[in-house]
Amino acid sequence: MSLTTDADSRTLLEATPGLTAAQQPLWPDAAALEAAVAELAVYPPLVFAGECDVLRDRMAAAGRGEAFVLQGGDCAETFAGATADNIKNRIKTILQMAAVLTYGASVPVVKVGRMAGQFAKPRSSNTETREDVTLPAYRGDMVNDFEFTPAARHPDPQRLVRAYHASSATLNLVRAFTTGGFADLRHVHDWNRGFVANAANQRYEKLARDIDKAMKFMSACGADFEAMRTTEFFAAHEALILDYERPLTRVDSRTGDLYDTSGHFIWIGERTRDIGGAHLDFVSRIHNPIGVKVSAKAHVDDLLRLIDLVDPERTPGRLTFITRMGAGQVRESLPDVVEKVTASGAAVTWICDPMHGNTFESASGYKTRDFDDVVDEVRGFFEVHHALGTVPGGIHVELTGNDVTECIGGSEKILDADLNKRYESVCDPRLNHQQSLELAFLVAEMLSR
Ligand code: PEP
Ligand code: MN
Repeated sequence: MSLTTDADSRTLLEATPGLTAAQQPLWPDAAALEAAVAELAVYPPLVFAGECDVLRDRMAAAGRGEAFVLQGGDCAETFAGATADNIKNRIKTILQMAAVLTYGASVPVVKVGRMAGQFAKPRSSNTETREDVTLPAYRGDMVNDFEFTPAARHPDPQRLVRAYHASSATLNLVRAFTTGGFADLRHVHDWNRGFVANAANQRYEKLARDIDKAMKFMSACGADFEAMRTTEFFAAHEALILDYERPLTRVDSRTGDLYDTSGHFIWIGERTRDIGGAHLDFVSRIHNPIGVKVSAKAHVDDLLRLIDLVDPERTPGRLTFITRMGAGQVRESLPDVVEKVTASGAAVTWICDPMHGNTFESASGYKTRDFDDVVDEVRGFFEVHHALGTVPGGIHVELTGNDVTECIGGSEKILDADLNKRYESVCDPRLNHQQSLELAFLVAEMLSR
């Protein structure tokens, strides 16, 4: 398959009438922006249309209950954080969680990294003020730098190009790890190496021994392991900065359709899903599988109009609603949404983001989440879908393979007083390695019920 970078895609995308795009940087230099966009427009695609089509089929299977989607990664990737160790630890964590879910619930897991493009963040304000100094807000490494100085916070369009290269390097490593033999289920023990010993690791070791035993049994029976040498792994991020997404959108020469080749799955955030806004218009023109975040504040009528716009053909796997209502709201607010969307004949896949409805500021001033709330929202999500006879299709979590202290709770019992020990996120708090594994064990139990 080949993708063209010629004028076709630009013409198709430029057809957008003058819609406003929320959450865009105030680029100070139009010529520099134009140069960066022109540079991106001639770079090779990061992902291929055929891969996006495979993922759409997998998302459709999850929508029918024949697979379960695991999406995970940083809230905000950073250029400095795109190291081999960080990426490897995140991939290992997702592979481990997937093994726990697959083995515990006998269901195929669709593995999606929130990575290789997650370099932009929506903000509640254009500016940030600290001790009487006001600077542009940090909008992610794709736009400016986290450091609180005028130079660092100055939006620089060349960062769009750096984001492309950082994504390309990340994806290269992801592809090497997941197709080069490392993701072979016969290495299920190796994925646990290098992580500090703790209760969740030990539980994982036991599971890995069981998987090993099963593999040896199958081997003795003459099973063919070729299919297990590699694993499918997809890349996802929020499609936020249209000056990045548009130039990476290309025409698929097989079909003439447009694909955003910056990632396999892209989603529209809670703050940019307005009907009549440029983000929904953009995703309505491309053929990738699309996610949309849905909070407890969403109006069902807007969601129904959104479905008509983004998925007029009702293609299974095309549209995923990532609900993020909060542990205290999910049981109350989710049923109405699921019921009315289902009654409309739409074919959306439902997945749960148990992070963004559960963020609060701790007494010591850190943005945090309580592990118990995270688990409770997933539990509520399962309860609602089970009660309605609909399908809980997956989870979307902010996690890292590192041993950070950003979310409180879990069996390590991280306290508010521990948050300062290793709080490294430049945006939202992530589950650490142990909390991620613990969550996987709990979700496996919910799934196998
Ligand atoms: C996020 O996923 O980091 C995010 C900002 O989510 P939401 O759009 O749901 O608030
Ligand atoms: Mn976040």
